[in-house]
Amino acid sequence: MRNLILVLGDQLDLEASAFDGFDPKQDAVWMAEAQEESTHVWSSKQRIALFLSAMRHFALALREAGRPLYYHRLDDKTPPAALPSLGAKLKEDLIALAPQHVVMTAPGDWRVFEQLKATVRDVELELEVREDRHFFSSVADFAAHAKGRKSLRLEYFYREMRKRHNILMDGAEPEGGQWNFDADNREAFGPEGPGQVPPRAMFAPSALTQEVIDLVNTRFANHPGSLSSFAWPVTRAQALEALERFVQERLALFGRFEDALWPGEPWLYHSHLSAALNVKLLSAREVVARVEQAYKDGQAPLQSAEGFIRQILGWREYVRGIYWTQMPGYCELNALNAQEDLPEWFWTGHTDMACLQDAIAQTLQYGYAHHIQRLMVTGLFALLLGVRPQQVHAWYLSVYVDAVEWVELPNTLGMSQYGDGGLMASKPYVATGKYIQRMGGNCSGCRYDPALRVGDRACPYTTLYWDFLMRHETALAKNPRMALQVKNLARLSGNERQAVAARAGAIRRGEVGATPQLKSH
Ligand SMILES: Cc1cc2nc3c(=O)[nH]c(=O)nc-3n(C[C@H](O)[C@H](O)[C@H](O)COP(=O)(O)OP(=O)(O)OC[C@H]3O[C@@H](n4cnc5c(N)ncnc54)[C@H](O)[C@@H]3O)c2cc1C
Ligand code: SF4
Repeated sequence: MRNLILVLGDQLDLEASAFDGFDPKQDAVWMAEAQEESTHVWSSKQRIALFLSAMRHFALALREAGRPLYYHRLDDKTPPAALPSLGAKLKEDLIALAPQHVVMTAPGDWRVFEQLKATVRDVELELEVREDRHFFSSVADFAAHAKGRKSLRLEYFYREMRKRHNILMDGAEPEGGQWNFDADNREAFGPEGPGQVPPRAMFAPSALTQEVIDLVNTRFANHPGSLSSFAWPVTRAQALEALERFVQERLALFGRFEDALWPGEPWLYHSHLSAALNVKLLSAREVVARVEQAYKDGQAPLQSAEGFIRQILGWREYVRGIYWTQMPGYCELNALNAQEDLPEWFWTGHTDMACLQDAIAQTLQYGYAHHIQRLMVTGLFALLLGVRPQQVHAWYLSVYVDAVEWVELPNTLGMSQYGDGGLMASKPYVATGKYIQRMGGNCSGCRYDPALRVGDRACPYTTLYWDFLMRHETALAKNPRMALQVKNLARLSGNERQAVAARAGAIRRGEVGATPQLKSH
């Protein structure tokens, strides 16, 4: 054998660089389902099922394309399939198959990359790692952008990307004369709610997906979440259909309601394409091109097209650059010295806080929550409570179908928890319950009142917000973007400060917020 091509669960692209020059007479592909990839964090059933189903469908696509394949299923009985880690399985096969070269596209996870490099080294072969063309920019491009900058900000990076790739440009100027339409993209629904939202694109499980669902329900029975509503795209054809449905049915209103929340409405006007993008069933380039075309064709306003493209051409590329230029130290950072444990009810949704109950319940049911739910509902609560960023990271990496470490970690540890002390975000994203009230309808159905910071009905977010400012007053006062918020602390008397700290303590002890059945745990 000349080349053995390694394909990981988030590299399901027949056009990936690892296949350049592939010759079926001399080369073969290697894929493996490893127990460890579902257990190194307590992966949700939805996430495991999505990866396994997409991998098994990709294996069919490889065979149809005539590419010889060695594939280990999780339920195979014989070694090396029964071995728990990717590295252990690969080692056995490298010895048996004795390829001249081992080739792969750059992976998305530091831990896996280290394991594979060590395995290949162990058998005295070389691993050829090729650039991942799925992304607009390489890690080297990002490093060049970051060089010499004291802090990194999305805006500068994003503008460079727009110019370099000539996306939404009018000559040298941004289309519409503005680089960003954020100010137009913060609308909430009125008291009547969002009305009739188009149903999400659903894909009924094929026989192969059903087999995976049965396997996950048996083998990972105690893992979080449920598979009763599994309907994610798991093939390229389905992913393309999901993209088209998004453009036709949701894109036009994406921008306006990008930040809005509404109870019982998980999907709103978001694309739900993150998992398909992250396992590479869709290319970032084709998604951006399709949305730019929809704008040019008059199907969507500029505020929506720009808002959406910023997420992919901007944020998605930016967090990848942060991850690969900052690892491995990045995952250990804890700039605010947060030491609390993640409340147990994050894994069950058993809380009486309506916004959190809603966001966690849908997360467990679908493996999905949109950005503002992640950042300003679950993430904000953990930040204000003072949970160790590493525990928050493990939760986000477990529960979402789109969770892959290169994108999840900077979003969680950096953007949401301020664990990197401002490398990614210029200030901690902190707010009271009034922010959640402004963006959606959760508070009207909640036993707490977002306007109150102390007392039995005080919203835990509001109490914890003031407690957060008190706990970090000295450090935050040095940040010009936090100065006004910190200055407002002066309005609190000594007694009020004491009352806030006392109630924050009760929330931390689980005396407030957890529903009764869990208080005894
Ligand atoms: C704490 C936290 C954890 C997150 N973890 C993940 C994760 O594990 N995987 C993941 O793909 N995204 C993650 N995100 C980013 C974002 O929330 C999701 O990409 C988005 O909610 C997915 O839903 P969607 O496809 O409907 O997105 P849309 O709202 O339709 O956005 C379009 C696309 O833009 C990209 N995108 C949007 N925001 C971001 C962002 N901040 N960073 C990178 N890409 C972005 C995604 O590919 C997404 O599909 C996280 C955000 C936070 C605050
Ligand atoms: S009152 Fe507070 S806890 Fe209740 S829904 Fe509103 S923000 Fe959430």
